[in-house]
Amino acid sequence: ATSILWLRRDLRLHDLPALTVAAGVGTVLPVFVLDEKLLAESSVRTVCLLRALRAAQESYDGRIVIRSGSPEEVLPELAREVGATTIHVSAESQPYGRIRDQRVRNALGDDVELVGTSSPYAVDPGTLLNQSLTPFQVFTPFCKAWNAHGWPSPATLPRGLEFAHGVDSLEVPEPQDLDVDLPEVGEEAATQRWADFLDVIDAYDTDRDKPGIDGTSQLSMHLKYGTVHPRTLLADLDQRHPGHKRFATELAWREFYADVLWHNPESEWHDLKPGLQDIIYEDPDTDDDVAAQFAAWREGRTGFPFVDAGMRQLARTGWMHNRVRMVVASFLTKDLHIWWPHGARHFMELLRDGDPASNSHGWQWTAGTGTDASPYFRVFNPVTQGLRFDPDGRYVRQWIPELGHLAGKRAHEPWDQGDGYDHGYPERIVDHARERDVALERYGQAKN
Ligand code: FAD
Repeated sequence: ATSILWLRRDLRLHDLPALTVAAGVGTVLPVFVLDEKLLAESSVRTVCLLRALRAAQESYDGRIVIRSGSPEEVLPELAREVGATTIHVSAESQPYGRIRDQRVRNALGDDVELVGTSSPYAVDPGTLLNQSLTPFQVFTPFCKAWNAHGWPSPATLPRGLEFAHGVDSLEVPEPQDLDVDLPEVGEEAATQRWADFLDVIDAYDTDRDKPGIDGTSQLSMHLKYGTVHPRTLLADLDQRHPGHKRFATELAWREFYADVLWHNPESEWHDLKPGLQDIIYEDPDTDDDVAAQFAAWREGRTGFPFVDAGMRQLARTGWMHNRVRMVVASFLTKDLHIWWPHGARHFMELLRDGDPASNSHGWQWTAGTGTDASPYFRVFNPVTQGLRFDPDGRYVRQWIPELGHLAGKRAHEPWDQGDGYDHGYPERIVDHARERDVALERYGQAKN
C-alpha cells in the first residue's frame, strides 16, 4: 500500500515521526503543496521556504512530489491517483494551519484519513496544563512543567524505507533573487550550524545578550522550516552538554508561545491582557506625522543608534538579535506609541524566522500586553540598553556606517560628540524621557 507524507514546516528526512508512521503502512509518497496563500505572504520567507524545499528534495532523492494549488483540492486528488487511504503529517497548531487542515479533512471525507503524528515542538502545544487544569499564562511555571514532562527520543530513519515513484511532479520553483544576506537553509545547513554553535555553547550564557557577538545559535530559521527538530537538539544537549540548561530554556520560550497561541488563536493579532486592550495609540494609517515616524523606525533612521542598528540588521539579513528585537519593539510601542501589530506585521515581512506565535507574543511581551509577568511600566531606554549590551559600540558601527568614525561607546551617543553628526546620521526623532512619561500615563489610564 502507498501512504502520503504531506510535508509542511518539517522539511527534513531525519527525526520525522510522521515519516516513521507512514513507512509502517508501506511505500511512502512525500508531497509538498505549493499553497498560494503561503507563497504570497512574504518574499524573505518564501525564498527560505523554497530553498528549504530544494534541500529536502535532495535528501529525498528527488522523490518529493510537488503540486500546486489549494491543499483541499490537491490532496484528495492525489490520494485517489495513488490509491492512498492515509495522509501523514506533523500536526499543526497555528491558526492558519489548523483551519487549512480542517478544510483538507472535510474534503477527504471518510475514505482517506489525515493522521497527525508529533508536531514541530518537543512537547505538542496544548499538552501541558497547570495545577488548576488551565493553560499556562506565565513562562516560568510552563518551563518547569515542560521540563518535567520531557520528550521522546529522536525518531530513527525507518528500515527499508521506500518512496513511491512514477508520480507526476512540478519542479521546485526558482526562489526570487533578493538583496538580503540569507544563510543556507536545509537539513545539512542546520546540522552544520548546530555543530558550529556547540563549539561556542560554553559562552552562550554570557554572550547571548550581546548583539555584537555571534553568540547565539541562529537556528530560529531552521526551526521555522523544520530543517531541524527541537527534540534532536535537546537529545544532543542531554548527551553531550548536559550542563547547558540555558539553551533548552530558550527553546522552551518557543514552545510556550506555541502553547499560548494554541489556546488563544486570536492572540496572533490581539492583546492577550484584557485590561490593556484600550490603551490609546497613534495611528500611522491616518496621521501623516505618525506615518513619518513609523517609516523612520522601519528604515533605521530614528536617531537612536541601537534601535537603528537593529532595524538595519533586519532589512539587510532578515534576522535581528533578540535583545535588539525587544528594544526596537519597546521603542515602537512606548516611544512612538504605535500599536504592536503594526511592528509585528513589518517583522513578519522581513524576518527569515517570522513565526506567528513567537513574533506576536514577543511583541506583546515587550508591549506589556501579553504574557509578561513583569509590570506593564517597564520601558526600555534605547540608549542605556545599547551602552549595557554593546559596550564597545561594535554592533552599532557594524550596521550604521554614518557612526563608523565614533570609537567605542561614543557611537551610542552621537549628540554628545562634537563630530557625531559629521557623516549624516539623523537627529533623534523623539525625546525618550518625555515619551516614556506619555506611555506610562496611557498604560496607567487603560489599567484603571
Ligand atoms: P538562540 O538564542 O540561539 O535561541 C535558540 C532558539 O530558542 C531560537 O532559535 C528560538 O527558536 C528559541 N527562542 C529563543 N528566544 C526566544 C524567544 N524570546 N521567544 C521564542 N523563542 C525563542 N523568534 C522566532 O523564531 N520568530 C519570530 O518571528 C520572532 N519574533 C520576535 C519578535 C520580538 C518582538 C521578540 C522580542 C522576539 C522574537 N523572537 C522570534 C524570539 C527571538 O528573538 C528569536 O527566536 C531569536 O532571536 C532567534 O535567534 P537564535 O536562533 O540565534 O536564538
